[in-house]
This record gives sequence, C-alpha cells and structure tokens, in this order.
Amino acid sequence: MQQVSVLGSTGSIGVNTLDVLRRHTDRFQVFALTASTRVDQMVEQCLEFRPRYAVMVDSLSATTLQSRLRAEGMSTEVLSGAHALSEVASHPDVHIVMAAIVGAAGLESCIAAALAGKRLLLANKEALVVGGNVFMSAVERGGATLLPIDSEHSAIFQSLPADKSLWKASVDKLILTASGGPFRTWPTSQIAAATPEQACAHPNWVMGRKISVDSATMMNKALEVIEAKYLFNVSPRQIDVLIHPQSVIHSMVQYVDHSVVAQLGTPDMRGPIAYGLSWPERVESGAAPLDFSTMSSWTFESIRDEQHQSRFPGLFLAWETLEGQSGSTAVLNAANEVAVAAFLNREIRFDQIYTVNRATLNALSYTSPHDLAALLALDAEARAVATQHCRALST
Ligand code: NAD
Ligand code: MG
Repeated sequence: MQQVSVLGSTGSIGVNTLDVLRRHTDRFQVFALTASTRVDQMVEQCLEFRPRYAVMVDSLSATTLQSRLRAEGMSTEVLSGAHALSEVASHPDVHIVMAAIVGAAGLESCIAAALAGKRLLLANKEALVVGGNVFMSAVERGGATLLPIDSEHSAIFQSLPADKSLWKASVDKLILTASGGPFRTWPTSQIAAATPEQACAHPNWVMGRKISVDSATMMNKALEVIEAKYLFNVSPRQIDVLIHPQSVIHSMVQYVDHSVVAQLGTPDMRGPIAYGLSWPERVESGAAPLDFSTMSSWTFESIRDEQHQSRFPGLFLAWETLEGQSGSTAVLNAANEVAVAAFLNREIRFDQIYTVNRATLNALSYTSPHDLAALLALDAEARAVATQHCRALST
C-alpha cells in the first residue's frame, strides 16, 4: 500500500486526485489531506478517505474540523499552520506527495517532500518557478522522484526516453502547446476591460480561479516555460510555445533528427495525475478516450503572430526572466500572484496584470537567492512592491 499526502485536497487538482485514488483503493491509501479554509468539504473528504492527518491553514478552521470529526467518531488528527504542511509532506510513513496547493504558499512543503526523498507529484508550478535551482537541488539531495502533473510537462515526460541520460544529446526542442485561453480571438482593446467571470471561463479546462486568470493572460504558459526549463534541464531557447486551441496534443518533443514525439488525450487532469501516481506503470484514470472519428481538424497558431504578441505580452516574460538574473522568476511569480488577486478583487483591470508584473520586475534589485530563506525574503519583497503598484493603479 502506497501512502499518499494530498496537499490542497479541496482544490481542482486535489479533487481530481482523490477521484483517481478512489478508483485504486487496492494500491493507495490517503495519509493526509490539507486545505486552506473549506471545512465542510474537508469533513466530507475525511469521512470518505479516513486519513491519519488533516491540515487546515488557520487554527480556527482546524479546531472546527477537529470537533466535527470527533462528533463523527473519527480519529483523524487535525493540525494547523504552514509547518504542519511540511510535516505531512515529509513524514517517514508517506510514499507519495501530491503538491496541489496554488502559489508560492506550496514551496516549503515541496522542499520538505523533496529533501525527505518522496515521490513528489508537482501540480504546484509556482513552487518550482520560485524555487528554481534551490528546489531542484533539494530534489537531488533528498533523492526524491519529481514527476510533473501539469498536462504539458506530463506529456513531455511521456514523450522523452525513459533513460534520462539520453535527454541532453537527443532533444532539439520542447514544444509546449497552449489553448490560447478565452481571449485568443478577442481584440486587444476588449481584453483590457475583461471581467473576472470572462477570464475564468476557460474553453477546455475547469480549474481554480488563479490558474484560469493565468490562462487568460497566458502567464500560465510563461510559468510553464520556466517550469519546463527546470524539470528537463534545457536552455530557455530550446522551449517553444504553440497555440493549439483544441488541447488534444498536450505537448511534444522535437529530437535532433527532427522527429517529433507527442502525447495526446482528452483534456482531463486525471490522465496526468494517474500517470504520476502509477509511473512507470499505467492505471485507469477515469478520463474518456479520444474519439478520432469526431475530430475534424487540429489547428495551430504561432505566438509570434503580431496580434498574439499584443494580446499576451506576459508570455514573453518567461524567456526574459530565465535569461535574466537568478531570482527574476521568483519576482515575476510574486508580482503575478498579487496582480491576479487584485484583478479578481476588481481592484485593477485585466491588462494591468501585465503592467504590475513588468513594473515589479523593473523596480527590484537583489542578489541571487541561494536558499529557501532568501527565496522567501525575495518573494515577500516582490509582493510588497507589486501591492504598491496595484494600489497606485486602483486609486
Ligand atoms: P485551486 O484554487 O482549485 O486549489 C488550491 C488548493 O490549495 C485548495 O485546496 C486550497 O485550499 C489550497 N490552498 C490555497 N491557498 C493555500 C495556502 N496559502 N496554504 C495552503 N493551502 C492553500 O487550484 P488548482 O486549480 O487545483 O491548482 C493547484 C495547482 O495546480 C496550481 O499551482 C495550478 O497552477 C496547478 N495546476 C492546476 C491545473 C488544473 O487543471 N486545475 C492544471 C495544471 C496545473
Ligand atoms: Mg498546464
């Protein structure tokens, strides 16, 4: 029996993960579930999966959860706070950690799981965008197995040779596909005034609100380019993005002989989640099979198209920050988290997310962060600067 800690179990990825685990109770047991504030949903999840631990971020939610579970006769121990996330991510009895918290808030628990040598299933891309080399060296030092859950990175991982030592010499480039999000065909002037509801209405995927807004700005793809650089150890120039509105090809690897290997599937996160859980084996995921007979066309658009460049200026910050000073990707991520939250609160306009990201990158000077403490300090500093920019824009 593999013991699994699901960090962020009440979110979109968390719920999909539990759905896959529910199909394979003979292989996996839930060790811990964690959430921010949703007590009702957590009670339901605990009653079904009977974890040893449940973690809530704040102590009030934890106290409420503990008494409700006691009333149900459950022995699940409820913990609270950021430190408890790291505890259940690194506990000696845990084999697999699903990192499905949104944002840099998941970084510490990811590093804890990495240092403890777990099989770490990474959905929480912001943790790697912030953590960069510090994150990757924790994986190496701890002897952890880092497996991507983001559908594009899972596709690339599935399209690469099993023998990692072959990657460097054989790969020409990685081609990340992107749906283009809800504003792919909108005029730039109309995008500027888009509402949170419009930004969160993704054409192909149902996801949390933060990643939905990131998909609409294509900052999600920028974060994914950065994620790919660290996961697959390629140079930024070896990573390309291609708009493919149907989201059937989940991403591709072009080899030095110009042969291309791709992974395909229906847009359902249970596919990559099941693969991460069972790798190198495969198990049933719940995702529907592709029906090629109903697919009349697959289309592709270049991100270098002039209109796309003006629609999605944030996308290009990926290469800029990767080629800039180490730590720039952490600054970009922090600014973007603050700006997206301000947009969702209707404090700034949609196009001002880019304004805040650009201004924060320009404003900060710092020395390259070499450890977790320095990264967290830089993250906090960038958040403070981005918050000031948001305030200035909203008044
Ligand atoms: P979500 O908002 O639906 O869920 C986030 C989860 O994290 C919730 O359980 C929430 O309680 C928890 N959480 C939020 N803030 C927290 C904090 N400060 N401390 C501790 N826990 C906190 O988000 P999601 O869509 O499931 O995305 C999760 C991660 O997976 C993100 O990094 C996202 O980019 C990535 N991802 C999501 C999808 C998708 O289809 N949803 C696809 C690829 C990658
Ligand atoms: Mg993705």
